Amino acid sequence: MKIVLSVLTAVVLMVHAGAQSHYPGQHEGKFIVKDKLIPAVYSFDLQDVKLLDSRFKQNMEREQQWLLSIGANNLLHSFRTNAGVYSGNEGGYSGKKIAGWESLDCELRGHTTGHILSGLALMYASTGDERFKTKADSIVKGLAVVQQALNQDGYLGAFPQELINRNIAGQPVWAPWYTLHKILSGLIDQYLYCDNRQALDIASKMGAWAYKKLRPVTAEQRSQMLRNEFGGVNESFYNLYAITGNADYKWLGEFFYQNETLDPLKEGKDILEKKHANTYIPKLTGLSRDYEIEGKGGGDSIAAFFWNTVIDHHSFVTGSNSDKEHFFKPDDQSGHLTGYTGESCNVYNMLKLTRHLYEHTASMKYTDYYEKALFNHILGQQDPATGMVAYFLPMLPGAHKVYSTPDSSFWCCVGSGFENQAKYGEAIYYHNAADLFVNLFIPSELSWKEKAIKLKQETNFPADGSIKFTVEATKPAGMILNIRYPSWSVAGATVKVNGKKVSVKNMPGTYIVLNRNWKNGDIVEVNFPMTLHLVATNDNINKAAILYGPIVLAGEMGTTGFIAPQPYSNPQLHNDYYTYDYHVPAGIPTSLLISGAKLSDAIKPVAGGKLAFKTVKEGIQLRPLYDIHRERYVVYWDIK
Ligand SMILES: [Zn+2]
Repeated sequence: MKIVLSVLTAVVLMVHAGAQSHYPGQHEGKFIVKDKLIPAVYSFDLQDVKLLDSRFKQNMEREQQWLLSIGANNLLHSFRTNAGVYSGNEGGYSGKKIAGWESLDCELRGHTTGHILSGLALMYASTGDERFKTKADSIVKGLAVVQQALNQDGYLGAFPQELINRNIAGQPVWAPWYTLHKILSGLIDQYLYCDNRQALDIASKMGAWAYKKLRPVTAEQRSQMLRNEFGGVNESFYNLYAITGNADYKWLGEFFYQNETLDPLKEGKDILEKKHANTYIPKLTGLSRDYEIEGKGGGDSIAAFFWNTVIDHHSFVTGSNSDKEHFFKPDDQSGHLTGYTGESCNVYNMLKLTRHLYEHTASMKYTDYYEKALFNHILGQQDPATGMVAYFLPMLPGAHKVYSTPDSSFWCCVGSGFENQAKYGEAIYYHNAADLFVNLFIPSELSWKEKAIKLKQETNFPADGSIKFTVEATKPAGMILNIRYPSWSVAGATVKVNGKKVSVKNMPGTYIVLNRNWKNGDIVEVNFPMTLHLVATNDNINKAAILYGPIVLAGEMGTTGFIAPQPYSNPQLHNDYYTYDYHVPAGIPTSLLISGAKLSDAIKPVAGGKLAFKTVKEGIQLRPLYDIHRERYVVYWDIK
């Protein structure tokens, strides 16, 4: 989301990010309206997947500290001020609202509180740690008091309702429904993951208020107001409908169908150029959710067309998209290697959409993308030194990740980041009645309650391609174990069950299927050899990134020319991430001499270095982009 001007004169600007959603198979008992769609595969609940030690778990632990360190009273401050409720001074409360975008006098106030409610819900589900629930409970209680005090038929916000009225009247406002979406979504997550009934009650009242507010809106007003960014509020209303059975909320979900942007997709037209990416993406997740509930409709094919268009024509090798938040001309990646590529909220939302589409089809292209974007973008979004997160993933040669600060940012991507780092367990495993699907190679332990089976996954991936699974079962159980044979594993695969080699007849891009009666202590070992390869931009075959398996390698370029507070955002400037001066020094190498040589001759592993390589001619060190922090890098090279 872009902040460039005085908020008082704010033109219609676009915000982002999405809601946390229900997925088929999760929280079954909490939905009155059951999904009519029978998906190909179901998610596991986050509670069923525990992360074992890895970089993912370490990211999650840093995130936990950050989540717990922000005071509940500070998160409630703007809401209370808006309602004229005394903020109190208990518990060392500083009496301050939180900073950065949250301190601006505009309708973004409160977005962080919504994301944090989702983040705490996901973290509680992922860990079972009561501290996350206790903290969330106190925020929800505070919001209930505010909603009551506002006494406006259920309206709840940290900004005056007048801004919603202005939005409906077609007057310039920013993105009020975007922020309300984060709050609604956070409350729904509190109900789904933490069983907080008060949160559902607040959300239902917000829904009743919204229905009353929007029911009289004319078609013309509606089309005007939907031009503002509204996040995934349609998805939240569909979820609220499925949870409560109240058809008013379904009407609200449909109200937020924007014909202008969605109808052309129905006709297979790529009209994405110049469109604000993160305004667009969550609209499709809402459509997918509607399709799941109804079991019919065009939502799924529109979403799938959109997804394919973004992935095939508008994305970088990292799975990120956009330049300065906007989609560019199809296939024009090489013209957009700037310091402002790949907004993190976009990836967060693409991954949400990907999960929906994968569950409908079990198609491998979705899992390939999920892995690519998770490892190359989300995992590296967080600075391991501080736990702060980056807004963009710059493709400008010699640029670096720019991290938020604890007390001056609270950008949209900080908000979606609270969720990203809390739900690494969500897409590792899927299942249907008889099959278990292993899609991601992340150290973890799955508990499949219906089968009374546990599966432990141990791996150093992506340092190498070996993965070991151990079955824990109180009595032998039938299960078809499907292990993803990734598309990048072109050098084959080896599989052993209890030490015995199993012949693999499949091709990469399918599942390796092991159908057995599994007993306690059974061990499956797989190995997917990883190889170096180039991935060129769509528009220039000689402009390419280097990958090892699915992992994007980047050239390490040091910190020459850094001027404090580089690589962090400037606390004096809210929009520093958007006009950041990278001070890229002259002479950053951007070409590699590879032509004629085999890649494995031109790039050699560094002895003893985990996932470190060196180019033979230029002597440039290459490491995973996710692991390059607080230093300059190059991703795309001119290949000579
Ligand atoms: Zn963002």
